[in-house]
Amino acid sequence: MARSSRETEAIVLDCFEHGESDIIVTFLSRDGGRLSAIAKGAKRSKKRFVNKLELFSFLHISYQVTPNRSLTFLSEAELYTSFLNIRQSYDLYTTASIIREFLLIATREGEVGDLLFRLSLWAFHNIDQKSNPRTVLAFFLTKFYDAIGYRPDLSACSSCNIRLQTGLNYSFDTTTGGLVCSSCSDTGTRLIRLSMGTIKILLAVQDQPLSRLHRLKISGNSLQEALSILHDYGRQLFQREIVSWKPARLQQPPNPTSRKTF
Ligand SMILES: [Zn+2]
Repeated sequence: MARSSRETEAIVLDCFEHGESDIIVTFLSRDGGRLSAIAKGAKRSKKRFVNKLELFSFLHISYQVTPNRSLTFLSEAELYTSFLNIRQSYDLYTTASIIREFLLIATREGEVGDLLFRLSLWAFHNIDQKSNPRTVLAFFLTKFYDAIGYRPDLSACSSCNIRLQTGLNYSFDTTTGGLVCSSCSDTGTRLIRLSMGTIKILLAVQDQPLSRLHRLKISGNSLQEALSILHDYGRQLFQREIVSWKPARLQQPPNPTSRKTF
């Protein structure tokens, strides 16, 4: 069976042992999207893949595909960075793991999306550089939903369609991914209050390219509000818990009285 050789940049999202000597690795790759490949003999060969097939490693990989793509073989991997700080800090590792879980839930083998790859690399790089990991997570998720086709609509009330107005109060409906103004708030089924300041920051995150995200600031209540809606939106969208989202500091709602669930 003729195989064809390819190469691309890739981030390791998952790896597990297969049989006595092989490792199966799942990558998010720049050119091939989500990609699973078998590294033959990787458990025995100390030289070829040592320290490379680890979670979050950013690699240049060479691989071979069979004609029907039933099996992909990893032939070589060159390490760009292992994001050492992420590995060595519980807080950073925890946040990176949440991002990894969202990527594994939302991607399918072979789906190609350059934006998702660049966004993920941006997030892991910034977490590793010790930017506030919670800010990186909030910015990542805001753009992530956009990249997979579920961009939260923060520009108008999703019920009356009146555009965002200063002075009005808004909530976010995590079942629809849209804003609901105070006049329409009876129509939402799962509403979380969102301040105007938070809405404006999230709109800016949606509109700015990755290269300019570092100019945007979010903190305090706004960050908590943003993480709260982004987390719950994901749970509704994928109809499952995000199991990595464990740490209490990430899980707390912004303010118990500001959240109403019908
Ligand atoms: Zn409305």
